[in-house]
Amino acid sequence: MKYHINIGLEVHVELLTQSKLFCGCSTKFGAPPNTHTCPVCLGLPGVLPVINKKAVEYTLITALALNSQINKNCRFARKNYYYPDLPKNYQISQYNEPLAKGGWIQIKVNGVTKKIGIERIHLEEDAGKLIHGTEVQNLQDKDWSFVDYNRAGIPLMEIVSRPELASPDEAYEYLVTLRKILRYLRVSDCNMEEGSLRCDANISISSEKGKMGVKTELKNMNSFKELREGLWEEVRRQSELLDRGEKVVQETRLWDSRAKKTYLMRGKEEAHDYRYFPEPDLPPLSIDDNWIEKLSASLPELPQQRFERFLKQYRLPEYDATVLTDSRDLADYFEECVKLFPKPKLVSNWIMGDFMRLLKQEKLASIKISPSGIADLLTEVEKGTLSIPMAKEVMEEMFRTGKGVTQIIEEKGMKQISDEESLEKMAQEVLRENPKAVKDFQKGKYQAVKFLVGQLMRKTKGKANPQLANRVIEKKLKEYK
Ligand SMILES: [Zn+2]
Repeated sequence: MKYHINIGLEVHVELLTQSKLFCGCSTKFGAPPNTHTCPVCLGLPGVLPVINKKAVEYTLITALALNSQINKNCRFARKNYYYPDLPKNYQISQYNEPLAKGGWIQIKVNGVTKKIGIERIHLEEDAGKLIHGTEVQNLQDKDWSFVDYNRAGIPLMEIVSRPELASPDEAYEYLVTLRKILRYLRVSDCNMEEGSLRCDANISISSEKGKMGVKTELKNMNSFKELREGLWEEVRRQSELLDRGEKVVQETRLWDSRAKKTYLMRGKEEAHDYRYFPEPDLPPLSIDDNWIEKLSASLPELPQQRFERFLKQYRLPEYDATVLTDSRDLADYFEECVKLFPKPKLVSNWIMGDFMRLLKQEKLASIKISPSGIADLLTEVEKGTLSIPMAKEVMEEMFRTGKGVTQIIEEKGMKQISDEESLEKMAQEVLRENPKAVKDFQKGKYQAVKFLVGQLMRKTKGKANPQLANRVIEKKLKEYK
């Protein structure tokens, strides 16, 4: 690649408040169209907006976590544009006085750690959603379009990065890292499918390092994968233009995930096109120091810090620490287990293995198996009551029914046979029943041992302690005449 790439991301995050930014309407996703609306969010005359304190709080928490400086006195602004999804014909946003400026996010790509600067963080309201006739099934007239204002007025936090991402892979990693932080902070569920995390990109290339080329804005990437694909396609398109001696034109382009191409959406647009002016219906926002101090003290441990602590405190490999700290809930769950069963690597193996497989169908918050259940299970494995395959079966049952370990062991008659005497008796029978295998062993074929152990396991319906079964068969073979 002979060009240097500069990418900046604008990330829109729907905040997890109960009500909208300037009215009391519910923010719950999936309600019938236009049922979560009122005169305020429909922009009817004679109504006034009132700011949602929780939305400001979530933005402040994010600013603190991203090392940004909070503007203690800031203001909302009107962004004027005309579009059917915007009932007031203006959006209440923030312009030159955002809630926070500066800050950074640390990312790691191909083993290299890098800090990506944050330009600004501000708060604004979302627009409604247009549904076009072509997208509606069983609709006769495909020329119709519909509008759903349930989303109009939902609080959106916009986080704008500096154009310091040097590749689409870095952009991908930045978004993954940001999403993880926001989920730890519990300010958003960051669900890209439901539109609670959206991302636009500015991208330019240049043959001179440190010099910025002409940028294009790229929209409509609806997943992490599409973000990376769309950006690589735009890099390819711009490189071809420069290779031919042509110029990149500043414009907004749309990613088409099916054609894997970007298309011109509209020409250059500037801030002055929106006629921003201070919002006259809302007083300036003044944030007091006590509030910031309180929020600062209540910040949770962030993913990066928690990852580093897991390495040190539990001596876990990097891979384990990465998986276990991927979500705050999982990390909490792991730590609860370790409190009750203080062998971190063993707990980690069980959680990352079958536990995660079973968890895929459920949410951690709603599962029936508690950390103390995991601790009980591992205790039984350690005591030798349960073999590994048995313990896996018990875990599955615990996931399904929420029953305790002891109860399941009793109900299923699952106790592992660790009594040497009775196993020896059964081993004797196994040898008598399989004279050919015994002969093979005597001829030096060690493989025969494996076969005979298998037979013994079958005889005990899998309840024999595997190490003991192996030892007993070997012992009996040596004694066999
Ligand atoms: Zn409303």
